Amino acid sequence: MSVNYAAGLSPYPDKGRCGLPELFDSPEELNQKVDELADMVRKASNVVIHTGAGISTSCGIPDFRGPNGVWTLEEKGLNPKFDTTFETAHPSTTHMALLQLQRVGILKFLISQNVDGLHVRSGFPRDHLAELHGNMFVEECTKCGKQYVRDCVVGTMGLKPTGRFCDVPKVRGLRACRGKLVDTILDWEDSLPDKDLNLADEASRYLV
Ligand SMILES: [Zn+2]
Repeated sequence: MSVNYAAGLSPYPDKGRCGLPELFDSPEELNQKVDELADMVRKASNVVIHTGAGISTSCGIPDFRGPNGVWTLEEKGLNPKFDTTFETAHPSTTHMALLQLQRVGILKFLISQNVDGLHVRSGFPRDHLAELHGNMFVEECTKCGKQYVRDCVVGTMGLKPTGRFCDVPKVRGLRACRGKLVDTILDWEDSLPDKDLNLADEASRYLV
């Protein structure tokens, strides 16, 4: 999440409860919880992890409702503070730990609500990842469905044309597809993308 992202979406009246305090465990409690979690992961037959804005706040990308969230500050009449952009943010230790869990075969699938692209930029394989709200770095062809992962944000939000066109060659002939490319960022009224939602649903089914 970033300021530009929040400002680029349609107005959303139901902001819920903003600014609830962040809770911190003591180091002892934290160690105990980490051990319990590791134990659960070891015993699990199907590990699927869901991530949201909290995983990226340590990368400098504010959430909506956290203590320094965009909406929390807006309620106080303050401007959101941020010290990074989507392009300059780096994946956190948590992003990298999830990647390692995937590489060693423990984490089967990752489902994220984040649009910051940090899972993809951490090296996480896209065929094991559902980005339910889109990705600021990805644009998609409206004709053939080909997705392009760019090294900078694509510049629009709300599934709008980015101004670029698809250059996938047609099966026969020399001409390219030339379909319009649109961003993948959902606005409030947009439905979740079928492909990512189905993959997430399938991956989350309990396997015996
Ligand atoms: Zn195309």
